[in-house]
Amino acid sequence: MSTIFDRIIRREVPADIVYEDEQLIAFRDIAPQAPIHVLFVPKTPIATLNDLTPEQAPIIGQLALAAADYAKREGFAQAGYRTVINCNGDAGQTVFQVHLHLLAGAPLGHFGTPIR
Ligand code: 5GP
Repeated sequence: MSTIFDRIIRREVPADIVYEDEQLIAFRDIAPQAPIHVLFVPKTPIATLNDLTPEQAPIIGQLALAAADYAKREGFAQAGYRTVINCNGDAGQTVFQVHLHLLAGAPLGHFGTPIR
């Protein structure tokens, strides 16, 4: 199934693309949740993390490496950043093409709210 991210990859929908190679594309989130919010999206269609096969596992590593490289290039790797992959409804996944969020640019606070 085609998603908005496929359309960005095919240049049918505009996006602020910050990195691209044969395996993945990275662009700024349209509704940023931090001063820096970039999405790293593989070009292989995979709807959710649940659909990742063992053979596709390196794809997640490529997303993580590309995010870390971007943080180093942009000079905020030492300050820190957060990476997130949402999966399905309880995590609020809205685009069903696996993607890694990179959030940075300010102290991001504690992650989540503890369950009592
Ligand atoms: P999810 O909630 O699925 O983990 O994240 C999807 C993300 O994609 C959201 O943060 C949302 O703001 C972003 N997004 C949705 N549509 C577009 C779009 O057309 N362009 C860009 N750049 N980001 C989008």
